[in-house]
Amino acid sequence: MREILHVQGGQCGNQIGSKFWEVICDEHGIDPTGKFTGDVASDIQLERINVYYNEASGGRYVPRAVLMDLEPGTMDSIRSSPYGKIFRPDNFVFGQSGAGNNWAKGHYTEGAELIDSVLDVVRKEAENCDCLQGFQVCHSLGGGTGSGMGTLLISKIKEEYPDRMMLTFSVFPSPKVSDTVVEPYNATLSVHQLVENGDECMVLDNEALYDICFRTLKLTTPSFGDLNHLISATMSGVTCCLRFPGQLNSDLRKLAVNLIPFPRLHFFMVGFAPLTSRGSQQYASLTVPELTQQMWDAKNMMCAADPRHGRYLTASAMFRGKMSTKEVDEQMINVQNKNSSYFVEWIPNNVKSSVCDIPPRNLKMSSTFIGNSTSIQEMFRRVSEQFTAMYRRKAFLHWYTGEGMDEMEFTEAESNMNDLVAEYQQYQDATVDEDDYEEGEGEEDPNFE
Ligand code: GDP
Repeated sequence: MREILHVQGGQCGNQIGSKFWEVICDEHGIDPTGKFTGDVASDIQLERINVYYNEASGGRYVPRAVLMDLEPGTMDSIRSSPYGKIFRPDNFVFGQSGAGNNWAKGHYTEGAELIDSVLDVVRKEAENCDCLQGFQVCHSLGGGTGSGMGTLLISKIKEEYPDRMMLTFSVFPSPKVSDTVVEPYNATLSVHQLVENGDECMVLDNEALYDICFRTLKLTTPSFGDLNHLISATMSGVTCCLRFPGQLNSDLRKLAVNLIPFPRLHFFMVGFAPLTSRGSQQYASLTVPELTQQMWDAKNMMCAADPRHGRYLTASAMFRGKMSTKEVDEQMINVQNKNSSYFVEWIPNNVKSSVCDIPPRNLKMSSTFIGNSTSIQEMFRRVSEQFTAMYRRKAFLHWYTGEGMDEMEFTEAESNMNDLVAEYQQYQDATVDEDDYEEGEGEEDPNFE
């Protein structure tokens, strides 16, 4: 068995993480006490249950999850939620101080004090695994705990388990849903870490989530609950190929191999179709062509960047429900043929798709899209501009230096993110011809180094 160890940190990380578990428990037929109440006639729900769950005595299934926070509030509410009892009580690790939306507190002071207790629990879970494939971390990048302590944990795990995969579900901040001004600082310092220590990062951009709620779902004042509904649907879709039997992207490493042509460029745009709001009923069931069309649509992306402003290096699609694989393949080829200029021609066959029989709850069919698009630089540019505006005047810096941080780390984080933007641009502009030319010149080939 190839197990995944899940960690959720901070307010946002704990909210989206616990929603994720509710959704996948339901899909795998696990009730709030950990009992299997699914379809006994078919083993599809249990066949790969060990990827995310441990089996405890009495046949109970327990999430392989560690919950951490620097304040007790969010975890208290998880504990008393319907699925709160399913988690192992020892795996709740929390402090009392809070991180005050300060990355430095999460990474260097308060979080650093608590990190060893978290690592003890992580180690214990890892030791119980038959063959751990890797980790997944849920966190926001705009606050202090998920962001600062989350990336501290990622770097510690990377140090201790260098050959395991690290997948993150990272919520990027947007002024549309938050009123904390220092979020661009926290996010940039985090991206700096994720570029180096993360292997694959699913970008969940609050700016895009807000826009989907407001424009497409017509919610006039979207709440975090509404945003998180989109996130949990997406997380369920993204992990579907890891949790159910199938060939494509069946583990974290295969997913990475298919999607990451250059190691630093591991930030993915994810899309979902059909988009639904909380509690809404899906009346019209969609056809495969409609799902395919929506899934590629900029309006369905959980990241505020327009794929038509860049090019796809790679992409993967997971369709769910009862449908014809042949029709899926035809529709996917069709999209690529009609839009060939949006796919780099120097990676042939860079789009993969697959079908999983089990649809998400309340839908007959759905599809999830994971794209490695150079247009994601638009989101990094947005954060970078917000960062630079403040950093130029050194505004709010004393909160960070007061925790012992060096200004140098800000400068480095800023340039690392700007480099990332430049790299996306470089591959967006790269063509097959240009490579041949550069080879002829005897220069180093930028694309196949
Ligand atoms: P932490 O507890 O110190 O990690 O701080 P938070 O998780 O509250 O981080 C603040 C950032 O996360 C801001 O950008 C918020 O907009 C965002 N955020 C907080 N809670 C949620 C949530 O439940 N859902 C979403 N999508 N974003 C959240």
